[in-house]
Formats: sequence, structure tokens, C-alpha cells
Amino acid sequence: MADLLRSGHKMLNMACPICNNPIFQRRNGETYCPTCNREVLIIESKSHQINSKTKANIDKNIIKEKNAVREHNDAVIFLKQVIIEKIDLFSKKLKKETQIDMIERYVKLLLDFYDILNKFSNLDI
Ligand SMILES: [Zn+2]
Repeated sequence: MADLLRSGHKMLNMACPICNNPIFQRRNGETYCPTCNREVLIIESKSHQINSKTKANIDKNIIKEKNAVREHNDAVIFLKQVIIEKIDLFSKKLKKETQIDMIERYVKLLLDFYDILNKFSNLDI
């Protein structure tokens, strides 16, 4: 067995169906049992195929999710910038404003903007 491993054979985590000894893999990919000295064909089970397909789908979904998160983060960052610009704009308007009802409206707007910014700061972006 040690000789086989030394000569580049790989011991597989499978047993020969006849003698129940470990199966080895040659460098060319052939699998065989050194005890019986015969080739052993490994047939991929259907469940394994389903598993790899399911895994591929899971990977795809993870990528989709990551992209969705990135797009969402981009949208939030953009909205943050817009709100900061609006705060700046309405602060300047508020400074010049003398009519009480308009001042009230600007103050209300600014409070809303800061409220949104506070909500974003909880999102950890
Ligand atoms: Zn065997």
C-alpha cells in the first residue's frame, strides 16, 4: 500500500465491492483494487448529481444576493449624498427666510432629513 502511495497513487475513501479493501486511483484517473488486481468503476450516484446541481444553484443565489446587497448599498449611499445636499440647500434657505410658515416648513424638512440619515447610520454602511 505504501509503495502504491509513493508511486503517486491516491487512496480513495471507498472500498472494493468484492474484497472490501481500499480502492486506489492511478495517475491517469483509473480506479482499481490492488488486492483483486482489477479495475473498479465508480458510478456517480444520482443523488450526488442532484447535490452538485443544488450546490450550483445555491452558489448562484449567493452571488445574486451579494449583488442585490451591493446595489442596495449603492442606492443608500447615493440617497445619503442627496439628503446631505438637500440639508445644505434648505439650511441656506432657512437662513434667509423670514416668513414664519416657511421657516416652519424648512425646519420640518430638515428634521425629516436628519431622521433619514439617523436611520441609515443604523444600517452600518
Ligand atoms: Zn478488491
